[in-house]
Amino acid sequence: MSVNVASNVYVFSFGPGQADGDASLKELLGGKGANLAEMCRLGLPVPPGFTISTDVCGAFLSDEGRFPEGLLEQVEVALARVREIVGERPDGAPTLLSVRSGGRVSMPGMMDTVLNLGLNDETVKRLAEATGDHRFAWDSYRRFIQMYADVVMGVAHDYFEEILDDYKLDNALNSDADLEADDWKAVVVLYLACIQEHSDSVFPETLSDQLWGAIRAVFNSWNNARAETYRKLHNIPHAWGTAVTVQAMVFGNLGDRSATGVCFTRNPSTGERSLYGEFLPNAQGEDVVAGIRTPYYISEIARQAAGDTNPSLESYMPENYGQLVALCDQLEAHFKDMQDIEFTIQEEKLYVLQTRSGKRATQAALKIAVDLVAEGVFTREEALLRIDPSSLDQLLHPTLDTNSAITVLTKGLPASPGAASGHIVFTANEAEAAKANGQNIILVRMETSPEDIHGMYAANGILTSRGGMTSHAAVVARGLGRACVSGASGVRIDFDKQTAQIGDRVFKSGDVITIDGSTGRVMDGEVQTKEPELTGDFATLIGWADNIRQLGIRANAETTRDAKMARKFGADGIGLCRTEHMFFDPSRIDLVRQMIITTEASVRQEKLDALRVFQVQDFSELFSVMEDLPMTIRLLDPPLHEFLPHAEADCERLAEALDMPLAALQQRMQVLYESNPMLGHRGCRLGVTMPEVYEMQLDAIFEAMEASLKNNAQVEIMIPFIMSVAELQKMRDLVDQRKSHWHEIKGSTPKIQFGTMIETPRAALLAGQLAPLVDFMSFGSNDLTQMTMAISRDDAASFLPTYVSGGLLVSDPFMHLDEDGVGALIKIATDAVKKSGFDVKLGLCGEHGGDPESIRFLNSAGLNYVSCSPYRLPIARLSAAQAQILMQK
Ligand code: ADP
Ligand code: MG
Ligand code: MG
Repeated sequence: MSVNVASNVYVFSFGPGQADGDASLKELLGGKGANLAEMCRLGLPVPPGFTISTDVCGAFLSDEGRFPEGLLEQVEVALARVREIVGERPDGAPTLLSVRSGGRVSMPGMMDTVLNLGLNDETVKRLAEATGDHRFAWDSYRRFIQMYADVVMGVAHDYFEEILDDYKLDNALNSDADLEADDWKAVVVLYLACIQEHSDSVFPETLSDQLWGAIRAVFNSWNNARAETYRKLHNIPHAWGTAVTVQAMVFGNLGDRSATGVCFTRNPSTGERSLYGEFLPNAQGEDVVAGIRTPYYISEIARQAAGDTNPSLESYMPENYGQLVALCDQLEAHFKDMQDIEFTIQEEKLYVLQTRSGKRATQAALKIAVDLVAEGVFTREEALLRIDPSSLDQLLHPTLDTNSAITVLTKGLPASPGAASGHIVFTANEAEAAKANGQNIILVRMETSPEDIHGMYAANGILTSRGGMTSHAAVVARGLGRACVSGASGVRIDFDKQTAQIGDRVFKSGDVITIDGSTGRVMDGEVQTKEPELTGDFATLIGWADNIRQLGIRANAETTRDAKMARKFGADGIGLCRTEHMFFDPSRIDLVRQMIITTEASVRQEKLDALRVFQVQDFSELFSVMEDLPMTIRLLDPPLHEFLPHAEADCERLAEALDMPLAALQQRMQVLYESNPMLGHRGCRLGVTMPEVYEMQLDAIFEAMEASLKNNAQVEIMIPFIMSVAELQKMRDLVDQRKSHWHEIKGSTPKIQFGTMIETPRAALLAGQLAPLVDFMSFGSNDLTQMTMAISRDDAASFLPTYVSGGLLVSDPFMHLDEDGVGALIKIATDAVKKSGFDVKLGLCGEHGGDPESIRFLNSAGLNYVSCSPYRLPIARLSAAQAQILMQK
C-alpha cells in the first residue's frame, strides 16, 4: 500500500502487516498514529484501526466544528476495513473501538481517550454471551459510560465515583473486584440516570453517534486548559493540532489471563539497560497510570529489588513476558532509541498499543546515549543530537550532601532524580501561589493528575503516596526536570485536615521536608546540598561535543568565584569581564565616588592611584585562575552617575571627604547625571572625556600581567559602546600610548590584543571600517537587541509598541538570534569584516551565547566564539557541537 499524499486524504488505515502511513508522518498522524502505522508495517501485533490527520483538527477547530467534505465517507470505508480484519464474529459480538488522541509530540494524559466504544444496552448483552464473561461485559460498559459522559458530554467523573462509592457502601462491598456482573448492571442503570439528570443530551446508542461524538471531543480536547498549559511549558505551537486514532479494542480485563501495562526498554531514571515497567492483571487501560490500583512489576529483578509481594509479569505470564522482551528489543533497534511501550494481553495474546521515545531524566538520557553508541546502534554525532542541551541544566543543580545528618521519614520510588527541600503544599494552586512568594515548595499529593501541571511546574519537588514509576507524577516530573518521589505509601494524606502523616509524625501545610528523587528518600527538614560532580557519562558526551564543535565557548565572569566555575564547566576562556562590578565593592565605592566628583586633577589622580592597587589585585587573581586561557577585559562602561549615592547621609559623607559644601556636591552630581543612560555619556565616551580612568585600568592590567608572568595571561582589552570609527581610533591611540608609557618606565611592552564591542546598530553597520583597527570584535547582543528594538518574528506584522509617559516600552528583549531579526545585523557585520580581509576574531557576549537556537545561527554565521554565563557553559558546548553537526549535514 502506498503513502497517501493528496491533501484531500484525511484518513490513514493500519492493519496487520500494512499501513497507509509510517513513522515519518508524525506531523500528519501524530506520534501515536505514525508509530502505530510503522509497527504494523513491521508486522507487530497491533489491533487494526485508522488515524484521522491533524489537518482535520485544524480545519475542525477553525471552522466552528465543521468537518471537511469527504471525511465522513473516508471514515466509513476505514471502519469497514477494521471490521473486515477483526472479522464478523459468528456469535454476534460487537466490534468495540477506542478513540485516542495524539499530537506530533507526546503530551501524556493531556488530551482525552475513550475506550469500549460501541456498547449499548443491546450490544453489552451480546458481548456477555459471546465471551461468557458477564462481569467483564457490564464492567466494560460502565467504564465506557463513565468515560464518554466525562469526555464527550461534560458530566464530571466525580458523580460516577460517588455513585460507585455509595453502591459499595450500601452493599457492603470493599473494592471494585468484589462487584459481580449484577452489581455492574445495577451501577450502569444508576450511571445512565445520572447522565439524564446532569446533561441536556441523551446518551447515544448507535456506534456512529458515539464515534462522531468522541472524535469531536478529542479534537476539542486539544484546546482544554491543561493541554494549553502543557504546550506553553514545553513550547509546543498551538497550531499543530491533534490527530485522532480509532482502533479496535483488545481487552486486558477479560479475566486473570489478561493484563495491561506500560514499560520502558531501559530504566528512565538511571538509564540502566533493563526492562522497566508496570502491569496489572485483569485491568483496562488507564488503571495502571491513574494510581487506582498499585501496579505490579514487570521483571523479577525489579520486583525483588523493591521487595514487592505481588507477582512480576515475568513469573505470572512467562511466555508473554518473553514476547514482550523480544518486542522491546525489536522496537529499540528499529527506532534507535529507548522506547516507552503500552501493551495489553488478552487471554495470553500480547498486543502492542503504543510506542514512543521514552521520556527520561537527564542522567538517564546521557547514559542511554553513551550506551547506544557503545552498542553500535548509532554514532557519536547521532548521540549528541539526541540530547536536549537545555536539559543539561538539571545536572548543574546541587545534590544531597551525604555527610550531613539526615532523618529519613520514609521511602518511595526514585521517580525523577535531584534533591529538593521545601514547604509542604497540598494543591497545585497553593504551589503556584507559594512559588510566587518566592518559597521553595514540595507538592504532596495522593497522586497527580493532568490538572496539576501548573503546580508541578511551580514546585521544587513532588511527592506522591500512590502510583508507580510511570505514574503521571513521575512522567511529568521527569519532563519538567523536577525531583519526584512517587508511590511513597508511608505517607498518609488527610486532605480535609491538610496534613500528611509520615510514620508517627504529622506534617502540616508549610512544614519543611526534603525529597531525594534519586533514591526515593523522604527526609525531615531542610538537608544540606553540595555542588554536583560533572563526571562519567556527562564527561564522555561533552568530550565528544568538544571534539566536534568549531565555536569557542567562553564565560562571562568578573569574580574569581565565577572564573573558577567557568573553568570547572569547561570554558575556553573569559569572553566578558565587566570591570565596573569591581568598582561597586564596599571597600572601593567611596574612592570611586570621590574620584568621580572631584574637579581637581591632583585629587582625582590620588584616588585613581589608590584604586589601581585594588584593580591590580583583581586582575592578578583572575589571571591566576584562568592561567593562559584568553580573557577579554572590558574597560569601564556605565554612565558615572550610576556610582553616585542616593541617600542623604551618603551624600553628606562624600561632601565631607572631599571637603566640599553639600550644595556644590549636589550641583556637580546634577552635571554628571546622564539623562540618556542607554546611549549617552558612557563607555568609550568616558574614555574620551576622562581618559585617566582607562589609563589607570590599563596600568593595573599591565602590572598584574607582569606580576603573574608564569600564568602567561592572554589579555584582550575591549572598548565598550563604540559608534564611530574616530571614537575607536581615539581609544586605540590611548591604549597604544599607554603601552609606550609602560615601555618607557618598565622597559617591556605588554602583549595584549585590542578590540571592541559591537553593541550599537551603528557599530554593526560600520564593522568593515572598524576592522583595520582591531584584533577582535565581540557582539554585545543584549544592548544590540534592545537598541534594534527587536520583536519576535511571529509578532513582527502585528506589533504595536506600548507608549508610557517618558518613553516607549518594547516587549520582551530576549529573543533567539536569527537572520530575520537582530541576527541580520550580526550577519551584515560579520560579512563586512570577512570581506575586509583583516584578521579579526569574532565573538559574542550576552544571553544569546547560552541559547541553543542562537548558537546554531551564530555558528553558521561564522563566529569564532560565544561567551555566556558559567552555568550555561555545558549547554553552549553541546549546542555548538549540534550546530556543527547540523551544518555539515
Ligand atoms: P494517552 O495518550 O493518554 O496515553 P492512549 O490513547 O494511549 O492515551 O490511551 C490510554 C490507554 O488506553 C492505553 O494505554 C491503553 O491501555 C488503552 N487503550 C487505548 N486503545 C486501546 C485499544 N485499542 N485496546 C485496548 N486498550 C486501549
Ligand atoms: Mg498512551
Ligand atoms: Mg552594553
